[in-house]
Amino acid sequence: MSSNNTLAPSRIAVLGYGSQGRAHALNLRDSGLDVVVGLRPNGPTWHKAKADGFKVAEPAEAVKGADLVAVLTPDMVQPTLYKESIEPNIKPGAALLFAHGFNVHFKQIEPRADIDVILVAPKGPGALVRSEYERGRGVPCIWAVHQDVSGQAEAKTKGYADGIGGGRAMIIQTDFKEETETDLFGEQAVLCGGASELVIKGFETLVEAGYQPEIAYYEVMHELKLIVDLFYEGGLAKMLQFVSETAQYGDYVSGPRVVDAGTKARMKEVLTDIQDGTFARNWIAEYQAGLPNYKRLKQADLEHPIEQVGAKLRARMPWLQPNTAPAAVAPL
Ligand code: NAD
Ligand code: MG
Ligand code: MG
Ligand code: MG
Ligand code: MG
Repeated sequence: MSSNNTLAPSRIAVLGYGSQGRAHALNLRDSGLDVVVGLRPNGPTWHKAKADGFKVAEPAEAVKGADLVAVLTPDMVQPTLYKESIEPNIKPGAALLFAHGFNVHFKQIEPRADIDVILVAPKGPGALVRSEYERGRGVPCIWAVHQDVSGQAEAKTKGYADGIGGGRAMIIQTDFKEETETDLFGEQAVLCGGASELVIKGFETLVEAGYQPEIAYYEVMHELKLIVDLFYEGGLAKMLQFVSETAQYGDYVSGPRVVDAGTKARMKEVLTDIQDGTFARNWIAEYQAGLPNYKRLKQADLEHPIEQVGAKLRARMPWLQPNTAPAAVAPL
């Protein structure tokens, strides 16, 4: 197999075959690199990786002989995976690569001193990393070097970013601390936590004021996609260009009443908890205790009235379920 990639002819072990793992493995192989996928035998994605034509081995076997080991399993299983399968088997001078800095930054993994430790994180989900690569393009990646024993750590990150297609778009240097803290803050304060609470509180406000839940659902959850798509494509400018003057005026005068200086002060508290390790400590303890609060809070979200009305309405919008047969649509 010949390749122009600077990593060739290295062997790359990709551990995990989920959202990121599958996309990385397929793109690296199509870039001419030698890829082995490391998974638990007969785990949920073992057969998928086999069906895609990969050599598949247990993680410890995949790590042996690899020049670069990409750790693309869920973050919370990585410390045990490192202790049991990677640490005893990774070659001196090989590179250990992450797509999120959590475990290294918060010292849940303290990598051996004789290996490179690097990070390449695409700024998009795995499906997009794959589909853009297939179109001859790529998803921008951020990259970092935590430990460089070979003198080649930076070249390895760039070779990997090229191999998954990121080099065709843009790569931005970061460090493990910045990647970890900003990723956690974004998902907690704005993307997952902030956005979902904003939607829920908006829904409750309308329903408690006597409006129909169906109408409230459309106004505060369904239509959010239209606005987010405009942000995604063209920032605030494109959103403001496509909404009415009335919506713009309401945005200017009412948005800052809802998300105000107090909200920002609490965002700073969330950031402080991330920076000083409080969030990581709590999350690791929660995971080790078997996720009692996580399960309870998740259940509460799933039982919220917005979920009941949402399921009913989405069933009448077949374009939202491209794989659902019309017969499966429940009557209103
Ligand atoms: P995922 O949950 O989609 O997939 C995890 C994979 O790991 C599956 O193949 C699963 O079978 C396998 N796995 C689970 N436990 C295992 C074990 N003990 N040993 C071996 N394999 C095991 O994960 P993901 O969302 O692709 O996340 C992987 C990494 O990428 C994480 O560090 C995450 O933070 C990071 N990341 C994810 C995204 C994203 O869009 N999902 C974006 C950037 C970075
Ligand atoms: Mg993220
Ligand atoms: Mg994250
Ligand atoms: Mg929430
Ligand atoms: Mg409207």
